[in-house]
Amino acid sequence: MANKKYFDVVIAGAGTAGLTASYLLASKGLDVALIDRRRKDDIGDKICGDAIAAHHFNSTGLPKPSDGVVRAYVEGIKIYPRDMRYSLAVSTTDGGYVVDRHGWGQELLSYALEKGVTLFSNTIIQDLIVEDGYAKGVKVFNRDSSERFDILGKVTVDATGYSSILIRKAPESWGIEKEIIDRDIINAYREVVKLNKRFEDIDYVHLHFISEYAPTGYVWLFPWDRDGYMLNIGNGVMPHRDIPKPHILMERYIYEVLPDLLKDRVVIKKGTWNIPNRRPRHIFVGNGFAAVGDSAIMIDPATAEGIGYGLYGAYLLSKHVLQAVEAGDYSQDMLWRYQYEYMTSPYGLRQARLDVFRHLMQAYSDKDYEFVIKHGILTGNDVSKARDEDDIINMFDKALRVFKSVLYGKVSIVKDLDYTLKMMKVVKSLYLNYPENREGIEEWSKKVDMIFSTLRNRFKPYIPNGLVDRTEKAIQRVG
Ligand SMILES: Cc1cc2nc3c(=O)[nH]c(=O)nc-3n(C[C@H](O)[C@H](O)[C@H](O)COP(=O)(O)OP(=O)(O)OC[C@H]3O[C@@H](n4cnc5c(N)ncnc54)[C@H](O)[C@@H]3O)c2cc1C
Repeated sequence: MANKKYFDVVIAGAGTAGLTASYLLASKGLDVALIDRRRKDDIGDKICGDAIAAHHFNSTGLPKPSDGVVRAYVEGIKIYPRDMRYSLAVSTTDGGYVVDRHGWGQELLSYALEKGVTLFSNTIIQDLIVEDGYAKGVKVFNRDSSERFDILGKVTVDATGYSSILIRKAPESWGIEKEIIDRDIINAYREVVKLNKRFEDIDYVHLHFISEYAPTGYVWLFPWDRDGYMLNIGNGVMPHRDIPKPHILMERYIYEVLPDLLKDRVVIKKGTWNIPNRRPRHIFVGNGFAAVGDSAIMIDPATAEGIGYGLYGAYLLSKHVLQAVEAGDYSQDMLWRYQYEYMTSPYGLRQARLDVFRHLMQAYSDKDYEFVIKHGILTGNDVSKARDEDDIINMFDKALRVFKSVLYGKVSIVKDLDYTLKMMKVVKSLYLNYPENREGIEEWSKKVDMIFSTLRNRFKPYIPNGLVDRTEKAIQRVG
């Protein structure tokens, strides 16, 4: 095999973002290389909740998952505090799917290959090639042939997910932040299970906010078949010395919260992986370089829903990379248009606003969640609206909420909520004014960093006291 191969675009990583970008770019007639360390038949498999809202497909031009790879069709999300008798139902436009990630990945791969994408599977991406300040491609090692070679292109795309390996190799001069702090990471554990008892409510995905088993995050229960006998379950937590590993907390949850349903489950698949869970990277493009999906941090920080955000990112990426190739201009300034359009799009704005909301969510205990849901301080309707609108609470509702919080001695919650909504507005206007080119990015970043540092200080993560000890004792008891 010759040790250099040339393409228009090199896409590193065949997750949902990389597969979508390669399909869209090849559909526009570009010569695309798609590289993944997985074998061809394993592409698509991912430790994930597998849920995706249907509306994400509207803007991307990507075919919806075929019926054969949809495990369950759902109407929306139900959110529970500790006591599961209370819940908030959050509507999702057009509902959503829980998919067989492996099957759907294979489906996306077949679309990409039909459009002429060249796949390098079982191939490990080892380094980013940079010459004269421009990305020129990647150095790889193919495990089938044990060969090392270079895959070169006009634009190199980092779609390697959480590991974001090319971002980490980017020259400092591009100004890309490489590390993210623990508060902005979710360490998540997932199982796909078979039940011997039917799970009744299969029309929704379910999020259980219960600090003892998922401090700073939640436990999820998603239907994974159409009869209610299979579930995708898991939990996510911030990496922290006072928080046990999520799989241990999940085991406790199964035995202590839903033993009747889950104790005798048969585990089909299980695993742990990380989610970057915050606003997008302030810069995710360089000369001849762009990132997409988890690598660029495209996610809903309130729910950790990243698939749809990555699809939208891939759609914008394909549009702007095509323009760059047509213009023969691969500079950071040219690719900045992709960054600018994402940051100021409804996705970028929602991501930034919900990152503010996430800080409040992480600071609340299950008692706070219970109060907020039980007494209607926040309703399903508010939460649905909060995703896109600034004014979610009208004057009358607000007075009622203040009254209730005074009555129950929880005024601070309404104050926190007010403050959060204000900060969401401030952040939205900052993101609407994201710099149109690199000039001004330092000043913009400083303002954003200052806001999030203030939020971190005001809303410290809530971790129940003695959780590590209690969990160790519980595990010893169960053996
Ligand atoms: C437990 C869990 C539950 C989740 N639940 C949901 C959910 O229900 N809904 C939702 O929308 N989102 C969910 N997410 C988030 C979602 O999984 C991600 O946002 C999404 O998969 C990101 O897609 P991606 O294409 O950017 O990255 P990935 O899917 O991570 O793809 C990256 C690809 O790059 C390849 N790669 C990485 N490094 C190399 C290398 N060195 N060489 C070659 N190849 C490489 C990998 O093999 C992989 O195929 C969840 C995440 C986790 C961890």
